This record gives sequence, C-alpha cells and structure tokens, in this order.
Amino acid sequence: MRPQILFKLFAPVTKLSGIGPRLGKLFDRVLGIDAESGGAAKLVDLLWHWPTGIIDRRFAPKIAAAPEGQIATITVEVEAHMAPHNPRQPYRIRCCDETGSMFLVFFHAKADYLEKLLPVGETRVVSGRIERFRDQVQMTHPDHVARPEEFASLAAIEPVYGMTAGLTPKVMTKAVRGALEQAPELPEWLDPALLQRETWLPWREALRTLHAPAGNEDLLPTTPSRRRLAYDELLANQLALSLVRAHQRRLPGRRIAGKGGLRAKAKAALPFEFTASQSAAMREIESDMGSESRMLRLLQGDVGSGKTVVALMAMLTAVEAGMQAVMMAPTEILARQHLKTIAPLAEAAGLRVALLTGREKGRTRDEILAGLADGSVHIVVGTHALFQDDVEFRDLGFAVIDEQHRFGVHQRLGLAAKGNEGRIDVLVMTATPIPRTLMLCAYGDMDVSRLTEKPAGRQPIDTRTVPLARVDEVIAGVHRQIELGAPRAYWVCPMVEETNELDFTAATNRHNDLAKRFGAKRVGLIHSRLKGAEKDSVMARFSSGEIQILVSTTVIEVGVDVPEATIMVIEHAERFGLAQIHQLRGRIGRSNRNSHCILVYGEPLSENARKRLTILRETEDGFRIAEEDLRLRGAGEVLGTRQSGMPEFRLADLAAHGDLLQVARDDARLFLERDPELASERGKNLRVLLYLFERDAAIRLIRSG
Ligand code: ADP
Ligand code: MG
Repeated sequence: MRPQILFKLFAPVTKLSGIGPRLGKLFDRVLGIDAESGGAAKLVDLLWHWPTGIIDRRFAPKIAAAPEGQIATITVEVEAHMAPHNPRQPYRIRCCDETGSMFLVFFHAKADYLEKLLPVGETRVVSGRIERFRDQVQMTHPDHVARPEEFASLAAIEPVYGMTAGLTPKVMTKAVRGALEQAPELPEWLDPALLQRETWLPWREALRTLHAPAGNEDLLPTTPSRRRLAYDELLANQLALSLVRAHQRRLPGRRIAGKGGLRAKAKAALPFEFTASQSAAMREIESDMGSESRMLRLLQGDVGSGKTVVALMAMLTAVEAGMQAVMMAPTEILARQHLKTIAPLAEAAGLRVALLTGREKGRTRDEILAGLADGSVHIVVGTHALFQDDVEFRDLGFAVIDEQHRFGVHQRLGLAAKGNEGRIDVLVMTATPIPRTLMLCAYGDMDVSRLTEKPAGRQPIDTRTVPLARVDEVIAGVHRQIELGAPRAYWVCPMVEETNELDFTAATNRHNDLAKRFGAKRVGLIHSRLKGAEKDSVMARFSSGEIQILVSTTVIEVGVDVPEATIMVIEHAERFGLAQIHQLRGRIGRSNRNSHCILVYGEPLSENARKRLTILRETEDGFRIAEEDLRLRGAGEVLGTRQSGMPEFRLADLAAHGDLLQVARDDARLFLERDPELASERGKNLRVLLYLFERDAAIRLIRSG
C-alpha cells in the first residue's frame, strides 16, 4: 500500500481550492495525463511540472518611462472608472503617477468587482505587460493588482509554466504553489555519500528551488535541484527494473532442449550459411532455453541482419522439446512477411505452421484455434489477435516477440498467461538499434544478443542527398536505372505529423506523377488507408515484379523484404527521424546488386537536419546512427516514446542526465545485492521513492512482499 506520507500528493488536482472538474481536465491535458485510461492529474504531477521560463517583476518604471512590450510593475493612483456603453467595449480605468497617466483595460469585466479591486483615489501596485494604444500607455488584464503593503509579498521573479488553452498562468502558478505546500518532508532515500559529493539539497528543498528560479540559468536541466530530482526519477526506474529482473530470474522456467533434428532439416533447406554473430546468438538463446530459469532475451540486429532465421531455429528447439512456439509481429504485413520466411523452412522440417491475425475469421480461424489447442499446429505467427481469450495452446513453451517497442508490458504479460502457468521463454527481437542509454532505461540489464554483421554478399548502399527542387533529375535517374535493369524501386513520401490526410495526399500526388512518367501499370501505391487485403495485393505485385515502383507512406517501414528492390527514394527526408530513415533504407541492399538511396530534402535545411542527413550518407551502422539520433534529437523523439513502451521521464532528460543514469543503475544494483528486500532504513525510504514515481508495481515482486 502507498505510504501514508504520500497520500496528500496523490490527491487529484481538483482537491485544490478553485480547481473544479472543468479546470481539472485542462490540468490533465497540460500535465500529459491520459484521461481516457481513467487517469486524473494529481498534486504530484504538478510538482514535476518544472518551470520553462521566468517573469521578472522587479522592473518598476514610472509610467512615462514604461517601455512597450515589457513586463513592468508600476505604483499608480486610481483616478476614474470608465464603464463601456456597449458590452463589446472594454472597461477602462485611468490611473496616474507623477509622470503621467495610463489605462488599465478589462474585457468582459464586472463593474462591482473592479470597483472593489481598484477603488478611485487609492494607490495600487499593478503588474503586467505594457502596451501602447494611440500614444497612451495601457495594461490589459494586469497579472497582479495589490495594495502597496502587499507589494512585498508579490514574488519578485515568477516561474512560467507550460500551458494549455483555457488555463491562465495565475491558475497554474497557484496550483503548483498549492501542491508544493502539500509536499511533505520525505525521508532521504539517496546514498549520503552521493548527496554530499553532488552537494544536492534534500528532496523538498530541491523541489522548492526548482519552482523558484531566480534567473534564466536556473531553468537549465543542469541545475543541482533539477539534477537531484532527475536522479530520483532515474533511480526509481533502475530500482524497479532491477526488482523485476531479480524476480524474473527466480521464476521457475522449463528446460527447453531438443536433439537438433528439426533444426538440421531446416538448415539443410537454407540457401546460405549463418554468419558468425547469428551462430553466437543461437548458442546464447539455446543456453537460456536449456536452463531452469525463465528466459527473457533481446535479439537486437539491424534490418536485414537475419534475426528471423535465428528466431526460427529457437522455435524449432521448442518444437523438438515437444512444445509449441509463437511469433508475434506488430503489424499484419510483418506477420505475413515472417510467415513467408518461416513457413517453407518449418514445413521442410515437417511441421505445421499457421497464421493468426485480425483477418483470419470464421472457419479458417476455428481450424487454427483447434490446431493450437490439440497441438497439431506447431508454430503460429500472428499479431495482437493472438491475445484473444479463446486462443488456447496445448503447450506453449516459447514466444518470439518482434519489434517489441511497439508492444506494451501488458501484452507481454498477456502472452505469458497463455503459457504453462506463465512458464514461457521469451525472445524479443528488435530491428531498432536502441542506444545503450535507452536500453538501460527500458530493460535494465536484460540479456542481449546482437547481430553485428550483415549476411555475406551484401553490397554497401550508395546514399546521396538531393534538394527537392531537383526532384525531376531524381525521377530521370530512377528511370535510367530501371532501363539499365534495376528491378524495383521504393518511393517514400513525407510523413506529416498528426494529419494522415496530408500524408495520404502527398503519396497520391507522387503516385499520379510517376504513373504518368512510367505508365500506370508499373507504379503502385500503398498507404495506411488501404485495407489489409489491398495492401497485401499491392505488396505481392511489387514482390513479383508486376509493379516496379512502389510509392508509399511509411507503412513499408518495418520488415518488408523484397530482395530485388535496389532503389529507395525518400522525399522530405529532413522530416524523418534518423533511425526511421535507416529502417527504410534497410529495405534495399538486400541482395548482391548495387543499391541506391536518394534522400530528397526540402529547403531551407536547418543546421541540425543537415548534420543528420550527413550522418546517413556517411554510415550504415545502425548503432552509430541511433546514438547520433539520440544526441541530436533527445530521447523522447528517438523512438516516439509514447508508442514505444519506453519509459517517459518527467524530470530526467537523457541527453542532459545520461551520466546520472549510469550512476543510478550501479546504485540500484549494489543496493539490491545488499538489501534485496528493501528492509533496511534506506531500503524503506527507497520504497517511498518507488511509490512517489509510481513504480511501486515492482514492490509486489519482492520475495517477502
Ligand atoms: P531481419 O529480420 O533481421 O531484418 P531477416 O531475418 O528478415 O532480417 O533476413 C533478411 C534476409 O536475409 C532474408 O531474406 C533472409 O533469408 C536472409 N538471410 C538471413 N541470414 C542470412 C545469411 N546468414 N546469409 C545470407 N542471407 C541471409
Ligand atoms: Mg525480419
């Protein structure tokens, strides 16, 4: 249970006076709370909402010297109220000091309220932005109106917070203050030596300092208060991961081992030899499977590095051991792709393989389900559809999850529930070369096998950049290549954020364009609006060569394998993430033919975008690209954190606090070695930390509860 000391902080923001349900919704939005999943912003969320700017109220000029556009705090005498004749006109109040006069302007104001706030003949301090209107100094809706004796209590420097429409800075500031007032002093969970070395403040003081910036330099992620709070968050994350990991290692698994007969048959059907890193990965996986504890291993390898066959070999081991195996893909296209690779080899070994996606319905689906339940289907490849309740296995022992970052932890658990009391070995495959830093955050010290070489015979890809103004030359170039015998080309159109509409239009226009040039029969179009069967049919025609040029949005990004494709044009490449382009580019260069990637960019190109395109031109090393991407764009962007299952940090910024992550990891590991049950004094305090950052699910995994 959540410790009592945190109760107040976990109350909804609507508990604060002046915040009702309507404002509450706005707070949900600005604090990034997913209200649809039943969440509501809490006081603790306000604490993490660090200021992004400051307003300096110390500037106190006389009226005549007040510069337009600046925030100023002016002491004035109220001279006269001028109520409007027509409600659309503003209410105006004339004020003066010894140098001149100015107007305070209010729209939709109530006269009696203003008469009380600013009585004629009295002195008031007003603070807000100075405007000039027909040579007259004015201030519309002052941020503050105070009596001179209250002036001192106005903060000299106010924090400015990220806002959303409908919320005023005043309401936000008041809410954050309210939350800070409720913040208790918490027992120190940090290692005293670290605290001293970094000269960090205790938790509550660090928070207060964070919300009371004295200058712009206090807004940087490198200030000690921000670093301390970021460290807290990283430590909570690493501690939770270590607990999950320790729990995982204790769980009984099953020894999955086979004689190798099926693998030998499949291998005989392969037209190639395994690379050294494929063989190494297979050995690591087999050793995990053969042990008593439950396997959770990540197979990481660049696009085209040959993960699928490695996974297949592991699945065959499970079948040799008398169990069933599943392979889950994030999309239907990808599931079909896997099936295409796997089915012939598994069938060569005499096995029955099935496909289960949202599209298998009625009798087909019933037959598959029956086969899974009685064990006559040995291997099933599919999508989320595999999670449905009526999918039952005779004896599921092994699961491969492809492109893990698109699945949530819940789904992983849902799948585990289908195994024999959850005793199921899991291999996660990802083609995204996740930088080490992010790996640590997402998986802690999960076991990793990496495929580091490309299969033999692959040619390097020639990558060039061309401005959009010269797109005609690109088209001519593609034409020439195709005349010279290049079999297939991809043409990827810009991704336009949030508006699938535009996404769709750009691809359609380009398709029409190219169809005119090459003939409608040779150019295909694929985008997210097409139904599954339509997508398959376009892909099949591209694969067979009936279509030579495939215009697409980013739906082809993941996993599609047409080895004959040797040309990839990416329009508006500057709008894509580095890793995403790398993925796209991985669709070509899959055979021993020369491949060309043309990155067409819109001008003007920002300095950052230029650097990114340069990196792509220079290297095909996915890990290097991922590291650079992280450096240039920050963690949130790299994998699209929200969809990625990567943890979202509120205070930690991996670009700025990467050094702390390493410290937090070692801290968590060393501590748990000494106190695996969080029973010591610091251990108890660390439990509070886990609750504070809502990582407390991990506490339930501690052996003694
Ligand atoms: P990934 O899933 O890592 O993107 P795949 O497993 O789909 O890569 O492999 C890409 C292509 O390379 C497939 O056509 C596969 O048959 C082939 N392939 C896999 N391993 C090798 C190898 N060792 N030598 C040659 N080709 C290979
Ligand atoms: Mg693959």
